[in-house]
Amino acid sequence: MAKKASKAARPRLSPALRAKAADIQRILDELFPETPIPLLHEDAYTLLVAVVLSAQCTDVRVNQITPILFARADNPADMAQVPVEEIRQIILPCGLSPAKSKAISGLSKIILEKHGGQVPDSFEELEKLPGVGHKTASVVMSQAFGHPAFPVDTHIHRLAARWGLSSGKNVEQTERDLKALFPEESWNKLHLQIIYFGRAYCPARGHKPEECPICSKYFSGGVKK
Ligand code: SF4
Repeated sequence: MAKKASKAARPRLSPALRAKAADIQRILDELFPETPIPLLHEDAYTLLVAVVLSAQCTDVRVNQITPILFARADNPADMAQVPVEEIRQIILPCGLSPAKSKAISGLSKIILEKHGGQVPDSFEELEKLPGVGHKTASVVMSQAFGHPAFPVDTHIHRLAARWGLSSGKNVEQTERDLKALFPEESWNKLHLQIIYFGRAYCPARGHKPEECPICSKYFSGGVKK
């Protein structure tokens, strides 16, 4: 069973902040009513491997590599048999290949030996796997198992700050603030909607708050509002 996130004391939130959060959620629902999972996968295990590969790599690149990797091994038992160096060669284009190949091999062996070949359905056990931090565990809990989670990466952290939804100094604080602001049943979808928003509206260069449907109203980067 999933370990329930502890309900720590909720910060007091002003009505204005709650109204802003609700409005941003409404805009995101209009812009991105559908939120397909960007990483190709067949099950919890292939999603877990894909998320490990996605660290500092684009989803497009990961989706080019995983079909090759999964043609070789798409389950923990088969992957545990593949030499780490062979995994490394296959995943080379994703970057950080020495660490990622060791993690994929190591987590496959642990899932096989300790969890009967099934990806564990709990934050605690997922975060014990090599290469799996809280964000990766949150993605798997949310997208593979449907448990409420709010994976916060640097992009979501930055957008939450720009919209004035969080003044968190790190992703952990931002995750706590976003969870307090939005209804639990919307976390899984909102995480993807914010990712899609960033991809569609945040160019690599040039930051033009007036041209964007949310930033034109709520940008709080210290320049416009
Ligand atoms: S102004 Fe544009 S680049 Fe800046 S946060 Fe908003 S959408 Fe992203």
